[in-house]
Amino acid sequence: MNQKKKYIFSIIRKPKSKIVWISILFIFVISIILSYFYINYIRKFTYKSVDNNIAELSKQTASQLELTITSQKQFLELIVDSINAGFFQTEKEILRQFDKELDNYHFTRFVILDESGSGITSDGHTVNNYPNIKDFFEQEEVYLSDNRPSTVSNNQVNIYSKTFWFKGQKKVLFATINMENYKQILLRRLFNGKGRTYLINKEGSILIDSFGTVNEHSTILYDHLNQEYQLKNTKALRNIDQMKKNIMNNKVGTFDIHFNKSIYFIHYEKVNINDWYVVTIAPDNIIAKELPLFLRISLGLCFFMIIAVIFIFLYIYALNEKQNRKLYSIAYVDPITGLGNETYFKEKGKDYLKVNAKNKYVVTIDINKFKALNNIYGYDFCNQILKQISKNVSKILPENSLMCRISNDIFAIICYYNKNIEKLLEAIFNVSSKLVIEDQVIHMNISIGVYKISFDEQDIVRCLDKSDIARSKIKGLYDNYYYIFDEELEELLVEEQRIESSMNEALKRQEFKVFYQPKIYTKDESLAGAEALVRWHRNDSIIQPNKFIPLFEKNKFILKLDLYIFEQVCKDISKWNLLYNKAPIISINVSKVHFQDEHFIDEYVKIADKYHIEKNRIDLEITESATMDSNIDIVKILNTIKEKGFMISIDDFGTGYSSLSLLQNMPIDILKIDKTFIDKSDLSSNNNIIDYIVLISKHIGVKTIVEGIETREQVEFIKKIECDMIQGYYYSKPLKKDKFEEYLRNHKYI
Ligand code: C2E
Ligand code: CA
Ligand code: CA
Repeated sequence: MNQKKKYIFSIIRKPKSKIVWISILFIFVISIILSYFYINYIRKFTYKSVDNNIAELSKQTASQLELTITSQKQFLELIVDSINAGFFQTEKEILRQFDKELDNYHFTRFVILDESGSGITSDGHTVNNYPNIKDFFEQEEVYLSDNRPSTVSNNQVNIYSKTFWFKGQKKVLFATINMENYKQILLRRLFNGKGRTYLINKEGSILIDSFGTVNEHSTILYDHLNQEYQLKNTKALRNIDQMKKNIMNNKVGTFDIHFNKSIYFIHYEKVNINDWYVVTIAPDNIIAKELPLFLRISLGLCFFMIIAVIFIFLYIYALNEKQNRKLYSIAYVDPITGLGNETYFKEKGKDYLKVNAKNKYVVTIDINKFKALNNIYGYDFCNQILKQISKNVSKILPENSLMCRISNDIFAIICYYNKNIEKLLEAIFNVSSKLVIEDQVIHMNISIGVYKISFDEQDIVRCLDKSDIARSKIKGLYDNYYYIFDEELEELLVEEQRIESSMNEALKRQEFKVFYQPKIYTKDESLAGAEALVRWHRNDSIIQPNKFIPLFEKNKFILKLDLYIFEQVCKDISKWNLLYNKAPIISINVSKVHFQDEHFIDEYVKIADKYHIEKNRIDLEITESATMDSNIDIVKILNTIKEKGFMISIDDFGTGYSSLSLLQNMPIDILKIDKTFIDKSDLSSNNNIIDYIVLISKHIGVKTIVEGIETREQVEFIKKIECDMIQGYYYSKPLKKDKFEEYLRNHKYI
């Protein structure tokens, strides 16, 4: 049973949990994508600021260089100006005069040379035939050279030069730059010396390398970078190439290259001297050492947020699920047995219809006389019976069966069964006919209806109906019986469909006619009244009510039909009141379907008033089974009927199990003892059950009538037990209206 319960929920939940996992996956993927974009954005943002930083740095370095160079140039101008002013007599004098300023202006030495490249240095060397001296003599302004050989060694140096006239000769003044000093300018700002800066000329030759690692003269920066960073990937090479082009075109720029799992930012900035460039290179961990940490924190945060979102999502889902489960259990689960209820059966049963299987069955089980058991043992005990049966039967059902309790004492099963179904039915009888409850052995009888689902069946309610119809064939047998829906029933169903499709039209066409069956006083055999019984005249044939009344009760058409019949009877009574001075008391059948609406009687009152009928001349027949329906407050209903002035008969008494003591509290005028009683009775015996009923009825002031009296013998018996009235073929069958009117003319009545 528990397993069943779980099964119920599992199928209800399944599609939902799929959605949940898809949602979580969706949230996860979206979060990852968002995180990726976020981190990328942060990276880009950080890199951008790194770019800006490094560019700014390069600019500062460049302008620092410019400043130094400009002041050096100016110093050279000053020297030449003072020579031109004639302050000095000899070249040595000139050199001596300015020698002390060398350090201040970061020069290593001064040199004065003639046009042949020969001369002296401030530190006492003589120079002969300095190469390419012409280049210097061609310059008018102060000139700063690229790398040149030193005047005193083979080292490469950078030289300032300026020509001048001295004692009629054209000379040139050299000031050799102290490269160490420039290096300091380049280094000073570079991340505690961890970055790298190069000064290059337009062709890319390295003039100064801040680290001093480039020793070879006239090394090209681009080749140097290729080697240093082992640039193989095309993107880096393309960037280097782009830098080359940009520098040729006097443009500045930044890019990065990847090497040894680090990123190196490279910026090239123009110096406004000789088209030189300052190139700054810095690894990312120097420039943005916060970045990895920042990224890690961001990632952690993203991860945390994803987990939090998923957690909240799951929490809300779990809450919802709990709520849903509660609602579902209310909507779908029978609290007594834990099986599904009728709604669940109808819903879940649809899935079974979709399965393409040969031997599918709908089986309904009705516990016989369950109401009587309830009266005898009480509700709690009977609930145990229901539980036991549901447990025992569930156990023996084939796999994948569905068993539900669809009403008070009716179970419905849908199952696949490839063997002879009668075997399963026998097994069901076996496990449910003898129960042990609270140490008490209870013998049970059940009726089973079976419908083998045809392959094209699509309506579970119809399947259930067919199984019910099959069961109704053995109604009242009160033993372990089953009935399998067969062709005969199929035809019945077809007939029912025919009736349903034509009933409304038939009512309009007045095809429903009232027949009257006389009721006779036992004492003097005079007319006591008549019962109005409906007949359906269709295509020259008369259909008896048992063919359509049960169906009309099911589809509620009886509500319309009963009122229609009631109105016809009222019309007839008012006519007879005129014709014969007085009409006899007429009994009219009222289906219990009316009782679902408390105010149904108002309609009856309205019609009776319309035809000015005295309501105490109308007797409403209400079946005994209606008085036993626990869903309606029958006493209240009968009291209102009585208040309105109608007479009340309890019809078919004895077919149900209501006790006479129960009827004592109801405002009843007549008890109609069912035909089955007279049929079953041994008329010759003395202490008959009818005898007893009549006796008690007299005692509580209720009149009695026996229906279905067909023989004189039966009449004599009724007379003997002093039952008040008789209805039956012995006196008259139900008569057509004109025939009944004839009967009225020939018989006296009060
Ligand atoms: P019922 O109310 O028990 O009516 C008595 C039934 O017994 C009638 O059957 C009547 O023809 C039949 N009957 C009377 N005397 C004898 C007899 O001596 N022998 C036999 N074998 N039968 C006898 P009928 O007219 O076929 O009606 C069947 C049932 O249909 C009625 O049973 C009643 O429950 C229902 N019914 C008839 N007319 C109406 C109606 O207008 N409204 C409602 N709600 N039900 C109606
Ligand atoms: Ca009746
Ligand atoms: Ca009856």
